[in-house]
Amino acid sequence: MTKWDKRFLKLAKEIATWSKDPSTQVGAIAVRDKRIIATGYNGFPKGIEDNARTLEDRPAKLRLMVHGEMNMIFNAVEHGVSLKDSTVYVWGLPVCEDCFKGLIQVGVSRVVMPSIEEHGKRWKLGCEFGKCKMEHVGIQVDQYNMYHVWSWDTPGKYMAEDHYNLKQSFDKEHGDEIEECENGY
Ligand SMILES: [Zn+2]
Repeated sequence: MTKWDKRFLKLAKEIATWSKDPSTQVGAIAVRDKRIIATGYNGFPKGIEDNARTLEDRPAKLRLMVHGEMNMIFNAVEHGVSLKDSTVYVWGLPVCEDCFKGLIQVGVSRVVMPSIEEHGKRWKLGCEFGKCKMEHVGIQVDQYNMYHVWSWDTPGKYMAEDHYNLKQSFDKEHGDEIEECENGY
């Protein structure tokens, strides 16, 4: 993980906060030659109102939600930007069983995403499948632990307390999803 990787991941983290989804926020940015060429976060398609009622209706929300990675691709298309040979940084969740296909099709060369083991419990099989296929076509896939991002700012001064607090809030936010997974996914 280079200094620039860390910088872009922090940016992806910031972009994830722009999502209105109350439970899952994913940010994605595509970078080439240290320049940001596209960004995206999860949200409803344009023109479809993302009011609190729909956002809380889980089945409707999941059906409507455009994932951060796909929105990044659509934003690039809208502006006529090629994502060929770019590195994509994802914050929030590992690349899922749908989005990996988009990333392959636009010619991404590297993906830096949250660790499947640590952050993708519910979608583990699909995420592993996608990772395997991305690697098969030559995309470099690097995984990182979102809990450890805090320690990047102060090497050697890693606060166990920060880790604990972040983990607590993550489990609280994603608790319903993890539970659903265990109950029958
Ligand atoms: Zn996805």
